[in-house]
Amino acid sequence: MPDVLLVGGGIMSAHLGAMLKRLDPRLVIEVHEAAPDLAGESSDGWNNAGTGHAGLCELNYTPPPAVAGAPVDVAKAVEIFARFEQSRQFWSYAVANGLATRPAEWIRAVPHLSFVRGESSVAFLRARHAALVAHPFFRGMEFTTARNVLHGWAPLLVEGRAIEAIAATKAGAGTDVNFGELARRLLAWLGAQEGCRVFTGHRVTRLRRAERGWEIVVRETKSGESRPVRARFVFIGAGGGSIPLLRGAGLLVAHGLGAFPIAGQWLVCENPAVVARHFAKAYGPPPRDSGALGGPHLDVRHLHGKRVLLFGPFATWTTRFLHRAGRITDLPLSIRPDNLGALLRTGVHNQALVRFLVREACQGMDARLRALRAFYPEARAADWRLVDAGIRVQALKRADAGRLYFGTEVVTAPDGSLAALLGASPGASVSANIALQVIQACFPEKLRDGEGHARMKTMLPSFDTDLGQPSAAAAHMQRAAEVDEVLQLPRADGGL
Ligand SMILES: Cc1cc2nc3c(=O)[nH]c(=O)nc-3n(C[C@H](O)[C@H](O)[C@H](O)COP(=O)(O)OP(=O)(O)OC[C@H]3O[C@@H](n4cnc5c(N)ncnc54)[C@H](O)[C@@H]3O)c2cc1C
Repeated sequence: MPDVLLVGGGIMSAHLGAMLKRLDPRLVIEVHEAAPDLAGESSDGWNNAGTGHAGLCELNYTPPPAVAGAPVDVAKAVEIFARFEQSRQFWSYAVANGLATRPAEWIRAVPHLSFVRGESSVAFLRARHAALVAHPFFRGMEFTTARNVLHGWAPLLVEGRAIEAIAATKAGAGTDVNFGELARRLLAWLGAQEGCRVFTGHRVTRLRRAERGWEIVVRETKSGESRPVRARFVFIGAGGGSIPLLRGAGLLVAHGLGAFPIAGQWLVCENPAVVARHFAKAYGPPPRDSGALGGPHLDVRHLHGKRVLLFGPFATWTTRFLHRAGRITDLPLSIRPDNLGALLRTGVHNQALVRFLVREACQGMDARLRALRAFYPEARAADWRLVDAGIRVQALKRADAGRLYFGTEVVTAPDGSLAALLGASPGASVSANIALQVIQACFPEKLRDGEGHARMKTMLPSFDTDLGQPSAAAAHMQRAAEVDEVLQLPRADGGL
């Protein structure tokens, strides 16, 4: 009987499995992935933006103040940076200890830019920059309104642009991460450890309380045969498949839980002449009415040894909960009397967002290219094609009374025998922190004894420190270069 059963072979299960095994090498751990391969859903490189979310460029983490001239609140950006630092710490541990080698194949240094147009947005970006550089995390961030400086940072954003007020910030310590590749490496390491197995083509179809832990029904996709597996602890890291499983497990926390999928699409450019001229991730402001979904961005990506440009994401309509294995019946079949109210209330409370999603989903290629040209004025239609990205499945809780929260949330059974993950943002970037939260909630005894505490300290040196506090942040930043060195992340400009 496994001590730990992880449902889903994505980035979240990969982090939790690897961290738990290093914390307690005696643990027997099984991973059950429904697809024939690992990390092919949201974690796959093509299905997400690969941004190492650290609050450097994403304008949705620092909304404009309600009163003009008031200071910009950067608390969320500081929090995200601190959580991303835990991922970087764990990744450098993983490289140094052979859990995920050759980091250049899954993480790259890519400057993170925020880019705005128009006088009021320029004033906001200036104020945001002033608030951010006051914190040790963001001290090296640069701000410019000068076209020649911006041309040096990102020529495509400037060439062919009409005269208008523009501004940008640049953080040299940004990253582009292939989360799918990283997940596959961590899972390959886990599967090779004593007492651990990683199954693909094995779908978890049911979870039921057992005397000590859970009885899980697993169906082998190829043969169609089902078999029961018992485990003391279950983590539902099934991405879009998590909410139906969680509801089926009969936990109180899942009562009345609804799910709403939002699919994404990218414009992709593979023309080497264009790709060679953009070497950043450039984020714009979130469109009006888009809630906390985030703004469009023009990114260089490094995927499987190739450089490409992505622009988007564009939201689009779907009733599937998974990109590859989802069914059009996923949404209709998820609606039950106990969650219908949450679904309807969310629609009523978020009419502007619903209108935005309908507009986005209905737009044609011309409108998408217009959005692209706001970033890259000389973009040629012939260089770009539309591809599907992953699906975010938004959890709708009764208690939220129709309000939408776009964060990533860990929910647990009261006895700590099960944990699940809801939500998508900031997602994969904070997977080490998510794994830590699960361990703190469900395996507190493993951190209490001296040996466990020391092991966790080696994996995540900041796990018991509030890094957001300026003094801790300043001390931490002095050691950030050590992590960069292990991850082979050169900082060309020597700072952020
Ligand atoms: C358009 C888009 C852009 C994004 N951009 C970023 C970004 O730039 N940076 C970032 O940090 N995050 C980003 N994210 C979020 C990030 O992709 C996700 O948070 C992360 O990949 C989730 O990982 P996961 O392991 O929970 O899920 P997944 O990667 O979806 O893995 C879940 C796995 O579970 C399997 N599964 C499902 N049901 C079952 C079952 N019943 N039994 C067994 N297996 C099952 C699936 O096949 C899948 O392999 C983005 C997401 C989207 C959609």
